[in-house]
Amino acid sequence: MIARKAIVISIDGLAAFYWTDPSARMSGLRALAERGVVAARMETVFPSTTWPTHASLVTGVAPDRHGVVGNSILNRRTWTPEDLTGDPVYDAPDLLRAPTVYDHAHAAGLTTAAIDWPATRNSPSLHFNLPFFKDQRVFETQTARAVWAELAALGYPLDRQGEWAQLPKRFLKDAMVADLASHVWHRWAPRLLLVHFLCVDSLQHLHGPRSPEAYWAIDYVDGLIQRFVATLPADELGGRTALFVVSDHGFLPVAREIRPNARLRELGVLRADAAGRVASRRSPPGGGARLRLRGRRSGRCDRLHAALSRQSRSPADAPRQRRVLPGGGCVHRARTGARDGSKP
Ligand SMILES: [Zn+2]
Repeated sequence: MIARKAIVISIDGLAAFYWTDPSARMSGLRALAERGVVAARMETVFPSTTWPTHASLVTGVAPDRHGVVGNSILNRRTWTPEDLTGDPVYDAPDLLRAPTVYDHAHAAGLTTAAIDWPATRNSPSLHFNLPFFKDQRVFETQTARAVWAELAALGYPLDRQGEWAQLPKRFLKDAMVADLASHVWHRWAPRLLLVHFLCVDSLQHLHGPRSPEAYWAIDYVDGLIQRFVATLPADELGGRTALFVVSDHGFLPVAREIRPNARLRELGVLRADAAGRVASRRSPPGGGARLRLRGRRSGRCDRLHAALSRQSRSPADAPRQRRVLPGGGCVHRARTGARDGSKP
């Protein structure tokens, strides 16, 4: 039988190594896997942070094509940092430059729904959408009125949405996401449902990979998925509906911290004021570091790249990408060495 409906569940920050780690119990997912197929691993996109990866999961193209090139960006028109996580700035049509699977489904006349999926704010292609917000104000101003009314009718604490989005309390929101997924499946009967859980990522940010808290979160989300699946008709999966469980990136422990400002000052690409404070820093937060040189000066970019590469202790630390910009200047990108991910 060919499945006519699809559910895509993303467990944020669930590294592939957990699948072979006996401390990560995941009894529900392991039982599901026995009925289905499992990929040994999945290669994520660069940069491997939440907003770019989730945009790639639904568009099928890399960040340079869909345009969500980081969890946060430096707006080159205004020279101001913009945090994309929690969709505080852009609606989905203004952020995504490639069509998504839910755009195609919607265009084909299918009902679509998303719960907590990144980069979906005010998407016209989703019949039901509770976007991934981190901020109470954004939640209150950017959630469709009909969705707001539906959440209120279900008794969810609408005044806690911002608070429950914070890392230590995010597990509370994940429980709501699971129950809402069940409600939406039965009330809206979507042909495509996207669901995103974050607390595995949140607790690894706070406590690190393979920590007791990480294992707890993995088992907790596994339990939420079991709870959701139990509300589906017994023969739903594997027949009418295909269930995909995916992740966006893993985590690595912090081995060392790099503080590059002193070296960059020596190299003459970073200015400091009289008190020693950085005067030219405009870098937005996120799980990577970018060095953007302004202006066209021949050889400067090459010298900087060579200097940073020499500085690196291993090839893995060296700048990952180097790109000369059309308007002059160049961009060097490197992993910060902290985690193979960043703020959700
Ligand atoms: Zn993530």
